[in-house]
Amino acid sequence: EIAFYQDKFVGIDEKVVPIQERGHQFGDGIYEVVRVYGGVPFLLDEHLLRMEKSADALEMKLPYTTEKIKEIIHEALNRSNYTDADIYFQVTRGISARQHHYPEVPTVFSLTVRPAKAIDETKRQEGIGVLLVEDVRWLNCYIKSLNLLPNVMAKQKAMAGGYYEAIFQRDGIVTEGSSSNLFVVKDGQLFTHPATNRILHGITRAKVLELAAKLDIPVQEQEFDINFLHQGDEAFITSTSAEVLPIREIGELELPRTRPITDRLAEAFKDLYKVKN
Ligand code: PLP
Repeated sequence: EIAFYQDKFVGIDEKVVPIQERGHQFGDGIYEVVRVYGGVPFLLDEHLLRMEKSADALEMKLPYTTEKIKEIIHEALNRSNYTDADIYFQVTRGISARQHHYPEVPTVFSLTVRPAKAIDETKRQEGIGVLLVEDVRWLNCYIKSLNLLPNVMAKQKAMAGGYYEAIFQRDGIVTEGSSSNLFVVKDGQLFTHPATNRILHGITRAKVLELAAKLDIPVQEQEFDINFLHQGDEAFITSTSAEVLPIREIGELELPRTRPITDRLAEAFKDLYKVKN
């Protein structure tokens, strides 16, 4: 496993973060997770662009150019020798005596590279169980911020109940998962929450929408409620690590076992990164 903190490679368990780092005092930072398939970071430009957007929203200056970040990522991958990996990187507002308002100090970049956490094939085939949880997050969910406590609590609640993912609902409107976006298929059409400030604009979500257009699957980016979700013919989550992952049950409710549209999208998504010989 490889780790990088503020300009240099460090040991993954080395103590490197100063007490006054705003990342851990305030959660004042942003992050990205990129999947590496066959040695190639997948959709890296899209992730870097989203990081720039998160940084802009928080008036945070990235410490490096995106070119430099790419260099660090490639260097880290080379050092790791992994062909399938998860790259995590974050930028925090830096190191400064504790105060709430933004200090004038350099921001701090850090990164880890670890073997990919692949989801087992049975789960992919059978689908996952999800639990509906109240969305108590703030209204800037499009910023990929380090403040993940509501997400952590929701996921914990789901897992403690034997479910794989928590799905948020806000005033009855279904938004997204604790670390994934949500899609529902109804009467041959694909539904997902619009890319507003109430959800993270998932890179996988955007790709799936592109694929749906290519496959002539009609898409409705619109709000829907819990009732609609329960009446879905199919449902799935998307994320960098989950890819396109079918939902088998929502709480006690079992969804139909045949999922023609989910299967097509999952297959098409795989084709995007599969190494073609
Ligand atoms: N929604 C939330 C809240 C997330 O944390 C994530 C990713 O971890 C996603 C959606 C999926 O985004 P992506 O497809 O870019 O991984």
